[in-house]
Amino acid sequence: MEIKVKEYQEKDLKYIWHPCSQMKDYEELPPIIIDHGKGIYLYDIEGKEYMDIVSSWWCNLLGHCNPVINEKIKEQLDRLEHVIFANFSHKGVIDLADRLHKIIPKGLDKFNFSDNGSAAVECALKMSFQYHYQTGDTKRTTFMCLSDGYHGETIGALSVGALDLYAKIYQPILLDTLRIPAPDCYRCPYGENRDTCKIPCGEKAEEYFEKYGKETSALIIEPLLQGAAGMRIYPSKYIKLLRSLCDTYGVHLIADEIATGFGRTGKMFAMDHAQVSPDIMCVSKGLTGGYMPMAITITTNEIYQGFYSPYHEHKAFMHSHTYSGNPLGCAAARGVLDYFEKEDPLTKANTFAPKFRQDLLDAFGNHPNIGEIRTIGLINAIELVKDKKTKESFEPKKRIGYQIYKHALEEGLLLRPLGDVLYFNPPLIFEEKDGEKAIRKMEKAMAKVL
Ligand SMILES: *Cc1c(COP(=O)(O)O)cnc(C)c1O
Repeated sequence: MEIKVKEYQEKDLKYIWHPCSQMKDYEELPPIIIDHGKGIYLYDIEGKEYMDIVSSWWCNLLGHCNPVINEKIKEQLDRLEHVIFANFSHKGVIDLADRLHKIIPKGLDKFNFSDNGSAAVECALKMSFQYHYQTGDTKRTTFMCLSDGYHGETIGALSVGALDLYAKIYQPILLDTLRIPAPDCYRCPYGENRDTCKIPCGEKAEEYFEKYGKETSALIIEPLLQGAAGMRIYPSKYIKLLRSLCDTYGVHLIADEIATGFGRTGKMFAMDHAQVSPDIMCVSKGLTGGYMPMAITITTNEIYQGFYSPYHEHKAFMHSHTYSGNPLGCAAARGVLDYFEKEDPLTKANTFAPKFRQDLLDAFGNHPNIGEIRTIGLINAIELVKDKKTKESFEPKKRIGYQIYKHALEEGLLLRPLGDVLYFNPPLIFEEKDGEKAIRKMEKAMAKVL
């Protein structure tokens, strides 16, 4: 058995370049070869169990090998695996759009399918630009985004992202975009409190719109939760302000709900907290329960109409992806919606969420190296700091988060931190007994490092 694992790992490293990894790290922490998954657990080929509290990069929404979703995919598989999506369609995608339309923010009526989050963001940017361009507003050639935002890895998506870790090296080849300083509620420069503040940081956004509002095509945001930035959470009031600025200056608001969609923040979509609609919304990840690579860029009839004209006027959106509307992806997504209807996992998650937060506070609230435990929905982020009072971070080269990650793996907990921010972003099926077990494992891993 032992030899078999080693063989797989060696072959893996011989051929495979893993994502978002310094491959040299794999010398001491070789890839864990997973055999199967069930619920919140993954099992490697030797049978060791790992609790997947990061939802395998935030996409596994309802547990691994969820029977409802599995069944839907199996049904679809024997019927149709894929079909060209220009001029052709299929029942699965029509049903999916019809059902999604009932749960997404009001005013979003048209669904453009692609196959990953970054592609959905690219599609949104192009759609916004082209709409303005061919409705007579040709000067809107730039995009605004929030500092520390993350929208994916392709060139356009990286350009509207603002995390140096992913983007800095590519700066010479990225689009010029405008980065509005985002709210930073833990280290609020205005000394305010997230829950009670009157968002003085909104001034910065106002300044950007005054200066650049007329040359901007769209503003893209991760509503409420800046995930890759370290699960930063900001008040919904800020979204409302951005919505009104976009309206005043004729700028599209793009909500990147790729991470936040489908119940992650306690409501179906993060925009629901602010009770405003974007002009364009991107969804992926939880859309298919993390089963299949599928994404949708959803927009308003108004934007759609900007492209609708006799063929020879050349106003069509000539944007395409081979796997648009893939029937297997649609089947997975319909499985997710079935599960929501049958089991109401969102209500269950919301019932458990306050208890889970309290348990985390009880376990870690007084730890001298935990600066903040911030919560939205079942997402809980634990920010590790060198000094709780001054909020000073650890030296990055200590890689404290990474050290804890390695110990947590020994404990059977999959906890892939963002720098020194440890977080839980478990599937919505996460329950009390899981929470208790995960906290115990995390305590052990942390004790070995701090
Ligand atoms: C994951 C993510 C993306 C990118 O999606 P990919 O499928 O990895 O390309 C974009 N935006 C947000 C907010 C994300 O969390």
